[in-house]
Amino acid sequence: MPDVILVTGGHGLVGKAIQHVLATEAPNSRYGRRDGETWIFARSGDGDLRDAEATRALFEKYKPTHVIHLAALVGGLFMHLKYKVSMLRDNILINDNVLHTSYLTGVQKVISCLSTCVFPDGIEPPLREDKIHLGPPHHSNFGYAHAKRLVDVANRAYKEQYGLNYTAAIPTNIYGPNDNYTPEDSHVIPGLLHKCYLAKKNGTPFVVAGSGKPLRQFVFSHDLAKMFIWQLREYDDVEPIIFSVGEDDDVSIRYVAEQIVKAFDFQGEVRFDTSKSDGQYRKPASNEKLLRLMRETSKDNEEFKFTPFEQGLKESVDWFIENYHQART
Ligand code: NDP
Repeated sequence: MPDVILVTGGHGLVGKAIQHVLATEAPNSRYGRRDGETWIFARSGDGDLRDAEATRALFEKYKPTHVIHLAALVGGLFMHLKYKVSMLRDNILINDNVLHTSYLTGVQKVISCLSTCVFPDGIEPPLREDKIHLGPPHHSNFGYAHAKRLVDVANRAYKEQYGLNYTAAIPTNIYGPNDNYTPEDSHVIPGLLHKCYLAKKNGTPFVVAGSGKPLRQFVFSHDLAKMFIWQLREYDDVEPIIFSVGEDDDVSIRYVAEQIVKAFDFQGEVRFDTSKSDGQYRKPASNEKLLRLMRETSKDNEEFKFTPFEQGLKESVDWFIENYHQART
C-alpha cells in the first residue's frame, strides 16, 4: 500500500513550508516527493480537530498511514495571557483526538509538533530533549505549554500500552513565508515585519518592543520542513527531537530588526521601546541530537545545511511584500 501522509494544520506557516519543499526538491530525493506517497494538507475547514467525530470523519475520508500533526491554537503573548483556558483546552482536545484517532485507525507513525516553551522555566541551559518534565513551564504560557507537554506523555503511554512509536518535534522560533502577521497573534519576526511594512507605508517610526538585546534561535520554515520530512521517513523512536539552529547561532532582536530594515530598504527612524519588557535574555536549545541523527542517516555523513538567517529573512520579507493582501494580517 502506498503511504498516505496527512498533515494537520497543512496550510499554516509550517504546513505551507512542507508543501514548498516537496514541490521544489528533486522527486524521490531525501526531501522530495516520493513515488507512491500521497500527501494530504488539511485545513480547519476540512474538520475541526477539537471535535472527535469530525476528526474521525477526516481520518476515514483520507485513511492516512502517517500523520504530521501541526494543527494547534497558536498565538503570541497576548493570546497566551488572555485565553489560558482556550490555549490549554483546545490544544488538549486537538492533540488527544489526533493521537487517539490515529491509534484507532491504525496509523503507523505520528509526528506531533511541540515548542520550546514546554521546557521548565529557569532550567539550566542548554534546553535538551531529556529536560522537558523537570519543572513547571513559564507562567505566561502555561496553558499552551502543558497541553503540548501532554503530547510527550501521551506518546510514551501509546508506546508502553500499544507499542507505537508516535513521536514529536520541538522547534525553536520559526519564521518564513505564510506566517501569521496579525498584531495580536504574531510571533516576534512576523510582528516586526508587519510593523516595518506599515512604518514604511505611513512614514512613521519603526518601533521595536524592548531593548533589542535578547538573543533567540530562529529556524527558517523551509529548513524545518526538511527536518519533518526526514523525521517521518528516517526516525523510528518515541523520544522527541529539538529542531533548531545551533546554540551559538542565536541572534539578537536588534539584529533581526536591522535585517528587516535592510530587506525593506526602510529609511525612517528605528526606535527601541525600553518601557516594554525584554523577556528572558537567552534560552539556548541544543540541536546536537538532530544533527547527529541526520548525519548518521545520510549517505555520506553529510551535515544538514541551514539557510543563512539573512537569506531566509530576505525571502520572508519579499514574500510578505508580494502577498500582503492575502497574508494573515
Ligand atoms: P499556524 O497558525 O500557521 O498553523 C496552525 C494551523 O492549525 C492553522 O493553519 C489552522 O488551520 C490549524 N488549526 C488550528 N485550530 C484547528 C482546529 N481546531 N482544527 C483543525 N485545524 C486547526 O501555525 P504554525 O505553522 O506556526 O505552527 C505549526 C506547529 O508548530 C504548531 O503545532 C505550533 O504549536 C508549533 N510551533 C510554532 C512555532 C512558531 O514560531 N510559529 C514555534 C514552535 C512550535 P486553518 O488555517 O485552516 O484554520
